[in-house]
Amino acid sequence: MADLSKYTKELSNLFSSSENILLISHINPDGDAIGSQLALYHFLTAKRTKVSMMTPNYLQDFLKWMPGADLIDIYIRDRKKCRKLIGQADLIVLLDFNHSNRLGESEEYVIASQARKVLIDHHLDPENFTDLMISDTSKCSTAELVHELVCNMNGDEHFSSKPYSEALYVGIITDTGNFEHGSYSSRTFRIVADLIDSGIEKEKILDLVYNNFSSDRLRLQGYALNRRMVVMPDYKTAYIFLTREDLKEYSHVKGDTEGFVNLPLSIKGIYFSALFIEKDGFIKLSFRSKGQFPSNEFASLYFSGGGHLNASGGEYPDTLEKAIDYFLKVLKENVWRFEDAD
Ligand code: 5GP
Ligand code: MN
Repeated sequence: MADLSKYTKELSNLFSSSENILLISHINPDGDAIGSQLALYHFLTAKRTKVSMMTPNYLQDFLKWMPGADLIDIYIRDRKKCRKLIGQADLIVLLDFNHSNRLGESEEYVIASQARKVLIDHHLDPENFTDLMISDTSKCSTAELVHELVCNMNGDEHFSSKPYSEALYVGIITDTGNFEHGSYSSRTFRIVADLIDSGIEKEKILDLVYNNFSSDRLRLQGYALNRRMVVMPDYKTAYIFLTREDLKEYSHVKGDTEGFVNLPLSIKGIYFSALFIEKDGFIKLSFRSKGQFPSNEFASLYFSGGGHLNASGGEYPDTLEKAIDYFLKVLKENVWRFEDAD
């Protein structure tokens, strides 16, 4: 675990000496990206600091209700305004990602900016492209890491506000799959206990985050499991593939396939799961594993990707058929890694 107290002074100084702070979370922002971004926003604005927020692309519906989400500028929607925000910022804080390519189209402008840059993240192997890198891979979420930093910066004065607590809660529940996986600790539960004591409406938040699907999405999930899942008990692996036609048939919208990759792991004896989604000219892959199988190593070795030990992703620059063939080939080369699985 990183000793976060060593960052307290430097981070406090950066915040108090900056006039235009810009908070940026990653492309295809998930609950932790937006949760950690909004939590930091609510903390800083409570101190009357001027803060702007940006994401490289759009938020999904299940995050749009969050207080402050409407204040986040979307790079691909307002390029001009976002470039201005980047140009004017004297401090840029990058949240919940470890490589500059997760900035999407905004990458070149952020990199070229004269602003001081801080990374706050919990992914493995962060790239060193900022002035200050606060990376703690022991945290279940960047939201938890933001909270620890806020606690340290605030000293004995306990900071809390409803939108701050809600943002933290969303970051923590989404990155742990509602406490099913990930590196949550007893400390995570102590933080969550404080959030509940502070009066967050947890049932309402769970409903807003998780019960937000269209009927088409639910039917697509049924179809994916019924018709597009291949289970290979000998390899302790299962995969799901979806073609562009499948997605069209079920009126797919962004985010609909999120979570599908976790489903095969509920099969007894399955320790590794992959999801193939056919995109325009390439295949997007998601991986999940149980135990010690390093899905991130697999993703980075074979699919130009990365991520966490048990949750990662990558791409394959060819057809779905070739992607699956290649996956099966490299899976066979790695099957020895499952020997101790159960
Ligand atoms: P998901 O399967 O939910 O899209 O992604 C799970 C995790 O894998 C993400 O949090 C991210 O860390 C990582 N990830 C997904 N896709 C990619 C990718 O194309 N490149 C890299 N480096 N990481 C990815
Ligand atoms: Mn995260």
